[in-house]
Parts: sequence; C-alpha cells; structure tokens
Amino acid sequence: AQERYASIREKPATTKCGKTISLLMNAGLMADLPSLQDSGAEGVGLFRTELQFLVRNKMPKRSELSAIYSRVLDAAQDKRVVFRTLDIGSDKVLPYMKPNDEPNPALGWRAIRVGLDKPGVLRMQLQALLRASKGRPMSIMFPFVAQYEEFKAAKWEMEKALERERILGHSVPEHLEVGAMLETPSLAFAPDQFYQDVDFLSIGGNDLKQFFFAADRENERVRRRYDTLNVSFLTFLEGIVKRCAASNTALSFCGEDAGRPVEAACLAAMGIRSLSMRPASIGPVKNILRGIDLDGLRQVIETASLNGDQSVRPAVMDYLRKQS
Ligand code: PEP
Ligand code: MG
Repeated sequence: AQERYASIREKPATTKCGKTISLLMNAGLMADLPSLQDSGAEGVGLFRTELQFLVRNKMPKRSELSAIYSRVLDAAQDKRVVFRTLDIGSDKVLPYMKPNDEPNPALGWRAIRVGLDKPGVLRMQLQALLRASKGRPMSIMFPFVAQYEEFKAAKWEMEKALERERILGHSVPEHLEVGAMLETPSLAFAPDQFYQDVDFLSIGGNDLKQFFFAADRENERVRRRYDTLNVSFLTFLEGIVKRCAASNTALSFCGEDAGRPVEAACLAAMGIRSLSMRPASIGPVKNILRGIDLDGLRQVIETASLNGDQSVRPAVMDYLRKQS
C-alpha cells in the first residue's frame, strides 16, 4: 500500500466523476513541516499554535513566536499555511495561566473566549503572526467562534494589529485571509452577514461532533456511540455546505474524520472540497478518492437516508465493496 501511495503522491485527488478535492495537512510543530513535501499535501490546512505555548513554563515572547512562524512559512515555501490562534482551555491548560476550576471545561472559558476577554495574548500572537509574514500572504483563523459578534471582535483585533504594524513600519502580508473554525453548531445558523464577512471556514469536526451529539470527545464511554456517518450529522453538514456555496465562502474540514478514508469520501460526497488531516492519511484518502464516483456515493447516502437508516455506513461500505 505504501508504494501505491508513493506512486500517486504528485497526482491530484481527482475522483472518477472529475471533482478535485484539496488535501492538506494538520501540523503544530516545526518537525511536522518536512511532511509537507513527503505527503504530497497541498498546504497546511490547520497549524495548531498551542504547542509553542504548552512547552514553556512562561508566556513565550512575541519575538520567539514570530521567529517560529516565520520558519514555518519558510519551510512551506509557496504553499498555504492556515494558522489557528491559540486554542487553550478545555483539554489544553497552560502551566503559567491559573487553571480555572470549571465544572465543564469543554464548554467553558477557552479558545477565542479567552482571547477576547484577555486580549493581551491574542494581540501579541497576532502581531507575531503578521510580523512573521514579512510581506508574504497569510491565512489566520480563530478557534471556537460561536457567534458572529465574536468573529467581528477578533477581526477588529486583527485590523488594529495590522494598523499598528504599518505605523511601526513593518511589512504586512500582501494578502491576508481571516477565517473561523466552525466547531459549535450555533455558527451553522449564524446570520448571512457572518458567512459573507468571513474569508473562509474550517469545520472542526472533533468539536462539532462532540457538541452536535452532546457526547464528550474524551469520554471513552460515549465517544464512539455516535457515528460521523449518522444521517442527522451529514444532513447538518450539508446545510453548512449550502450556506457556504450561497455566500461563496471557502469551506474545508479539519477534524480527525478528514483523515479516515470512508469518512473523507462521504464528506466529499456531501460537497466538501477541501480536507485537512494528519500527513500519514493523505495517501490513503487520496487513494480512495481517486477511485470513487462521488455522484454514485451521494446517491447511496440519499437512499440510505430516505430508508430511515441511522447511519449510512453499512450502505456506503456495501457500495465501496462492490466498486472495488
Ligand atoms: C476540531 O475540533 O476538529 C479541531 C480540528 O480542533 P482540535 O482538535 O484542536 O480541537
Ligand atoms: Mg477544536
């Protein structure tokens, strides 16, 4: 199988029905960057920035972060990197920020909520990112946005940081895209203005699924209870795809399911055209996509939903077996 993947590394993930899916990789460390070439990923669809904060015993300096982000961009060369601002709280606690005693940390003071309530860290990180660009194009997204106001406020911080960089005489990105992670169901129902305002959206399937089914992603007892290929969840994702299409908003999916071949094929069949995953999954996902007819798969999914199936998985597996 490894050889099979190597032979398609430079080839696009174009399906039998002629649709091309962008395959990107998730990263979080400098050490992940060589995988960009080895895996054949088109870029980094999610660069998690928590690790640089978690490995220190005090808040990293802006200059340290900027140097790291700049090296990430150097290593990516002309490939796109989507940096996600700090997503702490919940399962990721910084040793130098007093942990909050929260009964439900996953639903608590985390990610952009911390960034907006204590904007010092967010501002510092935005400056570090902008400065790292040295004029190169840049994509930045905010984690765990639950309502339009939060995105507006975060984008306002970005605009202020840009202005400040200009005044200080630093070169700013020649092109800057500002996006959001869609990982709370509420954002799927945000006003049209949100969808028009945001440059791109990335579905954080791990969190989105946990909140959709109200099932803790860390809890072994309930984690596997609900299938990603559950008809309700796919229908929900389809709604997001439609809203993005209506407002011409770029949409990708960056949760763990993007790296699972059968799930990835179904996400593509639901209309998602960009998937970001761990580097080792690019080969297997590309392999299945290149052999599949998304229209046929979509038909199978629709028939299974009409039949009242809870999950389309059995029908999809049956279809895939017959195809191979
Ligand atoms: C997600 O929630 O799907 C996601 C990609 O973010 P994280 O796993 O870092 O919460
Ligand atoms: Mg998440």
